[in-house]
Parts: sequence; C-alpha cells; structure tokens
Amino acid sequence: MIKFNKKAMQKFNQIPDDIKSKTLSNVYCSACKGTTTIVDFVATVDRNDLVLTGKCNKCSGEVIRLIER
Ligand SMILES: [Zn+2]
Repeated sequence: MIKFNKKAMQKFNQIPDDIKSKTLSNVYCSACKGTTTIVDFVATVDRNDLVLTGKCNKCSGEVIRLIER
C-alpha cells in the first residue's frame, strides 16, 4: 500500500524509473544495520525534499528515505 499526497505524487513521478527503483531498494535500516528495500511507504514533501516513510522489507521496522531535489 502506497499513499501519496498530491504534491508528493508529482515529485515522485518526476523521478526516472531506474533511479526510483534504485532509491527504494537502497534504504538504510538501523535495526538491520544495513541496506534494505522500503515497502508500504507514505510519501510526503518537507521543504521541497521528498520524504518516504515506510517499512523495512526484512524486519518490518520503520525506515525513512529522504530524496533531495
Ligand atoms: Zn530492517
């Protein structure tokens, strides 16, 4: 399940697909102490940066990925 507000959706759609998939599978999880894939995320915009808040696909812990413009 992926939730976006309108502004976040527009920003997310501007990211090329290859970078998008790389970004989503390159998220640091502090519980796993390594790189993981973010799942079930919510996208918001904070000061022009896109913030994805979701879950680690390994441990289901919360992970956050900031995408700077
Ligand atoms: Zn994890």
